[in-house]
Amino acid sequence: MIGRWLSDLVVGKDPRMKARLGLCLVSMVIYVCWIAVLFAYALPRQLISEATAHFMVTYISVALCVFYPLVRSGVTRTWSDPGLVSPQILWASGAMIIGYAVAPMVRSVAFQTLCLIQVFGFLSLRPKVAAWTGGLTTAMLVIAWIAMTVLGLSDADPRAEALKISASCFVLVLMTFQSRSFGLMRERAFHEKKSLAAAAEALRRITLHDGLTGLYNRAHMQERLEAEVQRALLNGHHFSVALIDLDHFKSINDTHGHPVGDEVLVNFALQGGEVLRETDVIGRWGGEEFLVLMPETEAAKQAQIAMTRLRDQLRSAQMSRSVADLRVRFSCGVATWSTQDTIEQVLERADQALYRAKANGRDRTELEPPLNPGTTFAGQPESAQCDR
Ligand code: GH3
Ligand code: MG
Ligand code: MG
Repeated sequence: MIGRWLSDLVVGKDPRMKARLGLCLVSMVIYVCWIAVLFAYALPRQLISEATAHFMVTYISVALCVFYPLVRSGVTRTWSDPGLVSPQILWASGAMIIGYAVAPMVRSVAFQTLCLIQVFGFLSLRPKVAAWTGGLTTAMLVIAWIAMTVLGLSDADPRAEALKISASCFVLVLMTFQSRSFGLMRERAFHEKKSLAAAAEALRRITLHDGLTGLYNRAHMQERLEAEVQRALLNGHHFSVALIDLDHFKSINDTHGHPVGDEVLVNFALQGGEVLRETDVIGRWGGEEFLVLMPETEAAKQAQIAMTRLRDQLRSAQMSRSVADLRVRFSCGVATWSTQDTIEQVLERADQALYRAKANGRDRTELEPPLNPGTTFAGQPESAQCDR
């Protein structure tokens, strides 16, 4: 309990924040150990001067006071390097190079440690940042070596030292290339993941939607019906379906051409989407046939009201840009699902009602007849009704 509270306090709950703070915490532990070694081991044995020790402590304290608080506060969240990996690598490398210049005891481990520090950038640095972080570290090392040689601060054999520095620079450059390649690989993987997600989304759209109108296709409407039956069985609310067929659509095609017919289908879909409730689902059932699924609509009469709204909307809607005043009418059959129904049965009843709407003169909505004599739903008339 206390452990969890402490962990939340130190690294937070966000996994990304935790990952970012990992390097800060590791480097903090190393810095603290370093201070302990300086004061408990090096200073008492006079391996470094007091001034050098104090300078190192000040240098390290800057890192302790800046990196962790900045990252933990979330200020860096929107920065290109939110974990401050590159500045931390450069700061730690600086510490090592200063140690190499002023403390002979550090000299023996300086090169290996410099290379080790670069490894921390392998998993997170962007290619460009990796390149200039490695380049800057190498440059700092070379500058320190030149300064030491010119100022005569080094007591080592200059030729041996030059060889050591050259080998270290070579390894540093190799590691920089490696770090950059990892960065490139990560970027490539990121872009591939993004395009894969976009392709999956496009595929999902294709499998669920009709290419012309953008409405759900027949296969998806079947799935929605099946899901709605399961939902209705659980919550006891019945649903209605409305099967719509555009009237004399063939003559629209014949008179104005197929592209106008397509335009009418698209605009019909738009009007349908506008006028229906958000919970209603409209799909393209076939050529110029549409199916509307109306959840929690127990009375076919209620569904009929929705169809009247759609009919009114179509009266004023512009259905084609090229053919002025193109009026589109539709016939509709409505049926309500009841517990003993299969999907096929309720669709069959809607189809029969649609057939009647056509037979009775089109441009109207017909309700299904009652299932069995005496079986009615709240608000549904005893006999089929029609609406124009
Ligand atoms: P009714 O009032 O009896 O329904 O007559 P109708 O002319 O609408 O019915 P019919 O089934 O004879 O014609 C439907 C037409 O719809 C025939 C077909 O070419 C056309 N159609 C089907 N799909 C499309 C499509 O995607 N685009 C276009 N432009 N026409 C289509
Ligand atoms: Mg038809
Ligand atoms: Mg038709």
